[in-house]
Amino acid sequence: MWPAQAMSGSLVLFGPPGAGKGTQAGLIVDLTGKPQVSTGDMLRAAVKAESAMGMEAKEYMDAGLLVPDSVIIGLIEERLTEADASAGVLFDGFPRTIRQAESLEAIANVVAVISIEVPDSAIVERIVGRRMDPETGGIYHVNFNPAPPEIVSRLIQRPDDNEETVLARLAAYHEQTAPLAAWYGERDLLVSIDGDHSIDEVAAAVETVVRGLA
Ligand code: ADP
Ligand code: ADP
Repeated sequence: MWPAQAMSGSLVLFGPPGAGKGTQAGLIVDLTGKPQVSTGDMLRAAVKAESAMGMEAKEYMDAGLLVPDSVIIGLIEERLTEADASAGVLFDGFPRTIRQAESLEAIANVVAVISIEVPDSAIVERIVGRRMDPETGGIYHVNFNPAPPEIVSRLIQRPDDNEETVLARLAAYHEQTAPLAAWYGERDLLVSIDGDHSIDEVAAAVETVVRGLA
C-alpha cells in the first residue's frame, strides 16, 4: 500500500471556479484511495433527478450564486455517513464559506487543504471552454485539453459555464470563499499550488504535495 493510502483524515481541494480542482481530483483519489466528494456534482445530480432540493439549488447555480449553507451542510452530513467515507474523503468545491468550514470541523478531521491558485484573468477562458463528457464525467477544454475526436459530439457545456455567470461566480468566490484560505492558514492546514501552468505541471505539483502528506 502506498503510504498516502494509510493517511487518515480528509483532504480539501480549494480554489476558484475553473482552477482545475475536478481535473486534479482523480490523481489525488488514485494516490490516497479516498473517494472524491464534489458538492457541485452532487447538486447537478439532484438537479437532474428533479428533486425539490435540486430545483431549489438550480436557481442559485444558474445565477452563479452559492447554494445556501443549510442545504450544502445537509448534503455533506448525509454523504459522510456512507461506509466509504469512514477513513476520510477528498472534498472538492466544499467548503465554500466560513460557516461550511465550521460545520465541517464538527463532523470530519481535515488534515490538509490543497489550494490551487489561478488568477481571475485565466479563469474566464478556462470556464467558457470547459466541456464535460456525460458518460464518463471526463473534463475537457476546447483548447487546453481537447477530447478525442470520437467523443466530441457527445460532450456538453454546463449551463452555468458562460461568461456572464462566471463573473458572478468569481465575485461570490472573492467575497464568500477566498477568506477561507486565511482561515485554514491560521489552522496550519493550507498548502498552496500555483495553478497557472499546464495541466501536467500542476499535476506534478499536486503529486509532490500529496506524497509529502503521507
Ligand atoms: P474546477 O473543478 O476547479 O472548476 P476544472 O478542473 O473543471 O476546474 O477545470 C476547468 C477547465 O479548465 C476545464 O475545461 C479544464 O480542462 C481546464 N483546465 C484545468 N486545469 C488546467 C490547466 N492547468 N491549464 C489549462 N486549463 C486547465
Ligand atoms: P466550479 O466549477 O465553479 O468550481 P462547482 O461544480 O463546484 O463549480 O459548483 C457549481 C455550482 O454549485 C456553484 O456555482 C454553486 O452554485 C453550487 N455549489 C457547489 N458547491 C457549493 C458549496 N460548497 N456551497 C455553495 N454552493 C455550492
